[in-house]
Amino acid sequence: MKPSVYITRKLPEDVLVALREKYDVDMWEHEDIPVSSEVLKEKARTASALLSMLSDPINEELMESADSLKVVANLAVGFDNIDIKEATNRGIAVCNTPDVLTETTADLTFSLMLATARRIVEADQYVREGKWKSWSPLLLAGADIHHKTIGIVGMGSIGSAVARRAKGFNMDILYHNRSRKPEVEKELGATYKSFDDLIAQSDFIVCLAPLTPETKGMFQKEQFEKMKNSAIFINVGRGPIVNEQALYEALVSGDIAAAGLDVFEKEPIDETHPLLSLSNVVALPHIGSSSVETRKIMMKLCIDNIKAVLEGKAPKTLVNKDAFQNI
Ligand code: NAP
Repeated sequence: MKPSVYITRKLPEDVLVALREKYDVDMWEHEDIPVSSEVLKEKARTASALLSMLSDPINEELMESADSLKVVANLAVGFDNIDIKEATNRGIAVCNTPDVLTETTADLTFSLMLATARRIVEADQYVREGKWKSWSPLLLAGADIHHKTIGIVGMGSIGSAVARRAKGFNMDILYHNRSRKPEVEKELGATYKSFDDLIAQSDFIVCLAPLTPETKGMFQKEQFEKMKNSAIFINVGRGPIVNEQALYEALVSGDIAAAGLDVFEKEPIDETHPLLSLSNVVALPHIGSSSVETRKIMMKLCIDNIKAVLEGKAPKTLVNKDAFQNI
């Protein structure tokens, strides 16, 4: 009997050819409806591999009954939806898709900065709603991006790619990580700052950190109060890094000027979400890495990782490396 692979969202058939040749492939039939936890648990019970999405909780309860499961390949660089400790204890390899999505996500992050600062979404709506009756000196005037200061929280692969774009806009680049990155300091002239100094000194605060117990709730009322009143806050990392109620209040009270958000505490957000009532918010449905080219490359990487683990070889991008030194 061939090992079985369960894919938790409908993916294009052309990327699945190599997988179907060797394995018994089963796939959730919807592109835009997530698999229910019951179905996922049932499918995981007999699967050797899961190709999962960031919206699928791969938790202890699921792994408990997944006796044949050898690999979870997550279609994302973030893996906060997976209980890594539990997977490692059970000898399940967890793979993600770093690097291949870096430039695409950096493009989206920079688009969000531009769209928020220059009020692109509001301006588009203004034209469509027939409100454009004359040119006027301060019509939909926004904020400049060039020559401003960008502060990147999470200067990893994507953060560095955003910083390279910022350099082209003649921005001053500040960053904060737990560790310093001498190469970005040298290549881009980026300056390392404490978190408090970065949020106080930046015109654009861009969050590109992963969601971890340490980063959860990193941006609270106190942090927004420390920012400039003209600051623009951008989050492409993960929603729960930010207290959304505090962000909403900061935007309403004028503690900060605007926000561009690709990620939310709870996704998908409801159209009645308070942040969506504000014209100084640009909201996107978690599309950071969503270009056709990159998403197909991410799918292929997941498939290569699954094939490698099932063939007893080292996958290209393994998250729980310590537990799999001998693969
Ligand atoms: P990466 O290369 O691992 O970079 C993450 C950076 O965050 C590292 O430089 C790390 O530096 C820093 N970091 C980790 N914990 C931190 C903390 N407590 N405080 C400050 N900095 C911290 O990952 P990446 O590929 O750039 O991706 C980053 C994140 O972006 C992902 O984890 C994911 O959540 C998000 N993402 C979102 C989308 C989207 O569609 N919106 C797409 C791709 C990725 P230190 O270890 O030195 O602290």
